[in-house]
Amino acid sequence: MQTCKSCIKEIEVGATKCSYCQAYQLWYKNPQHYSLIFMLPFLVFMFWNTGLFYKKYFIDFENEFTYTQEKVIEIKGSNAKLITFNVKNNTNHKWNHISYEIVSNHNGELLAATADSNYAWVIQPNSASLLTVKVPFIPNANEWHLKIKDLKSDRY
Ligand SMILES: [Zn+2]
Repeated sequence: MQTCKSCIKEIEVGATKCSYCQAYQLWYKNPQHYSLIFMLPFLVFMFWNTGLFYKKYFIDFENEFTYTQEKVIEIKGSNAKLITFNVKNNTNHKWNHISYEIVSNHNGELLAATADSNYAWVIQPNSASLLTVKVPFIPNANEWHLKIKDLKSDRY
């Protein structure tokens, strides 16, 4: 004998339903819960669709990016420069939504760091892409280093 989970009276072993209070002894035998079972694949799909299963974080891939400075252009009539970096993506993923920092140096000495982002910039898997950034005029600066702070990756 076993006892009913609801009224604690003794019922037959293996009974799915209590003969006294009609309570179902196993939640999945209760027709009121059938809809949950049918919902399950849908809920799994919804969760999969959020991207949480395969989210890629830039921090895990940052060593697979290399940067070289292509050119520096002075903007006439402005105290700013346009610096173009060639960014090489050695990962098998496409990245976008870049957040970066430009570190301005004078012969290796840190002068300033400028943070910015460019959500339109995209880099394809295993390829290079040019990134042109505008940096304010900083007296004595003769080197500018790109440091990517963050990138987002699509699902595929
Ligand atoms: Zn019962």
